[in-house]
Amino acid sequence: MPENEIKQLPVPLSEDDYFDGGGVQCPVCGGFHCVKAEKDFEGERPELTQTVSCFRCGAIWQDKYSLVGYEDLRDKEGQRIW
Ligand SMILES: [Zn+2]
Repeated sequence: MPENEIKQLPVPLSEDDYFDGGGVQCPVCGGFHCVKAEKDFEGERPELTQTVSCFRCGAIWQDKYSLVGYEDLRDKEGQRIW
């Protein structure tokens, strides 16, 4: 078997493991830091999705996002408020 052949994991990486790893591991081939955005965020706030793919094995899937808060509140001049 050629050393550069990309193998599929026996089972897809679980959502929990994907999340715990920071979303940098492909759930199909298990490669790290090979996930890239294919599209901008889609959907309705506060829950959005983004189509991403693995440039190692070519798998494509949707990352799911939930709003967790806000920070760095500023006025229209860029000055901090409160
Ligand atoms: Zn992959």
